Amino acid sequence: MVGQDLQMLEGTVACVNAAVAELGIRDDMRDVIIEPWRELSVALPVRMDDGAVKVFHGYRSQHNATRGPFKGGIRFHPAADQAHTRALAMLMTFKSALVDIPFGGAKGGIQVDPRQLSERELITLTRRYTRGINHVIGVSRDIPAPDLGTNAQTMAWIMDEYSAIHGYTPGIVTGKPVELGGSEGRSESPGRGAAIVGRLAAQDMDNIGDSPTVIVQGYGQVGSSAARKFVEDGALVVAVSDVSGGIYNSSGLDIAGLDRFLAGGGAMAEFAGGERVSNSELLELQADVLVPAAIEGVITSENAGGIKAKLIVEGANQPTTVAADMILAERSVAVVPDILANAGGVVVSYFEWAQNIQRFKWELTRVNAELESIMTSGYRATYAYSQTHGVSLRSAAYNIAVDRLTKAIELRGFLK
Ligand code: GLU
Repeated sequence: MVGQDLQMLEGTVACVNAAVAELGIRDDMRDVIIEPWRELSVALPVRMDDGAVKVFHGYRSQHNATRGPFKGGIRFHPAADQAHTRALAMLMTFKSALVDIPFGGAKGGIQVDPRQLSERELITLTRRYTRGINHVIGVSRDIPAPDLGTNAQTMAWIMDEYSAIHGYTPGIVTGKPVELGGSEGRSESPGRGAAIVGRLAAQDMDNIGDSPTVIVQGYGQVGSSAARKFVEDGALVVAVSDVSGGIYNSSGLDIAGLDRFLAGGGAMAEFAGGERVSNSELLELQADVLVPAAIEGVITSENAGGIKAKLIVEGANQPTTVAADMILAERSVAVVPDILANAGGVVVSYFEWAQNIQRFKWELTRVNAELESIMTSGYRATYAYSQTHGVSLRSAAYNIAVDRLTKAIELRGFLK
């Protein structure tokens, strides 16, 4: 296991261990909730456009399905190996438990940089992977979704391949194109969810005013939707970034203008409405709220001391290392943890799955209202727990999730 993967797994396991200790859970139960139930590794030969055959490696880690079928995204990324996939699968179990939706946790991955593949190579790889894992997934068994490097199109290909084997099955994946049974509002949901809980957390803090200033690191699917929702709710987004760098305007960026500029093929750094900043400068800018929305391990012991935001909202999975988390706690920087902050994606996945099973379609207004309601309940429960027990939002989130999972395991009688 390489450094980053080990750190990710350790981060989640450390949170679970702390919850187990605080809740007084027995050691044998701890092992039951940490160990993944089932893991599959598949070799995926693909004939490349140049005629050569290349073998890719794919994984599906099914962590726990006590509270409902396994659920979680599929990541196409060079770092998506077995250990990485396992760490992310575990996060999904606690994410679903925290927001109290009827799913367990899973994650899939293929070690590949999808940008290096042609569309034909990508579709062949996706079909191979689907065939490789088709016997362990199912509408009541395990429902994949998009994650880094995959999108609605990828889900459409998986649905098509799975349906060719098992018959028409839209509910096999979530995050599909709306034309194929995807839910309205699914693609925006992780970002909207992050902004919803970010806004509520800002309101609960004495040192943040009514119109918080916000930095969004990573302007992909999660970051851009979060920025739009923050603005919709009256916040001022002062800085955003993508891989090429960031832009800053202390009086607030014109997010709608930026979106139009990017849609027209412009590069973020060339947007006229802000001054250029590097990604590392961006993290340390003056603002009330910082939303790391790109990838794991961005806030480290190197930069945690320089962060000026009073509140961090973890739009990405595990953007804060364990060491950085301790520094932030000492500096009284509040952190809305990933398992709450980015749960909006799996919440609307739940709506999509339910719509597919019922062969029924919800309007966008209903999706967004129900998302707001579930995210608000998840936040309120976490905040109340943290206040009552004098613990961080992350500890509160894990304690609630671990407690729910443990009770479900006991009720199902696995250990009798
Ligand atoms: N990949 C997303 C996540 O990490 C969504 C998973 C899902 O909708 O199943 O939460």
